[in-house]
Amino acid sequence: MSSSLEELTNILDRVLASLDPWTDPPRPGLSSIDPNPAESSPTVVLALPRSEALAGTQRVIRVTVKAACTRCGGSGTVGGRGRTCRRCNGAGTVAVERQLRVRLPPGLSDGTKLRIDGEGGVPTAGEAPADLFILIQVEP
Ligand SMILES: [Zn+2]
Repeated sequence: MSSSLEELTNILDRVLASLDPWTDPPRPGLSSIDPNPAESSPTVVLALPRSEALAGTQRVIRVTVKAACTRCGGSGTVGGRGRTCRRCNGAGTVAVERQLRVRLPPGLSDGTKLRIDGEGGVPTAGEAPADLFILIQVEP
């Protein structure tokens, strides 16, 4: 994989994150992915009313994560001559949107980071799934 492709993938990720794909309808407590490119693990910012943060609650969150490209099987190339896969542009991974039901324990405070093992997608083809992080923001 060349560095220019990685760069392109990073740029695409930032564009996708800035698009804020879930504006309809505006659900309370749902926010977009942390666009901070320095954070390699996908992070969802979840705003909660103080009462729910204290009592515990459930939320369905939507998150865009990377998954191995099904066309090239994560290799980034197709065919015997190593043609660049057009579905993933040679990255080996594509962005997919997933819905997750998360159970939030009681007593959450602002800034708490919850980890969901193995739900962060596959940032690099062939590697183990990353963990997904949920950053709790308690509404004042
Ligand atoms: Zn592919």
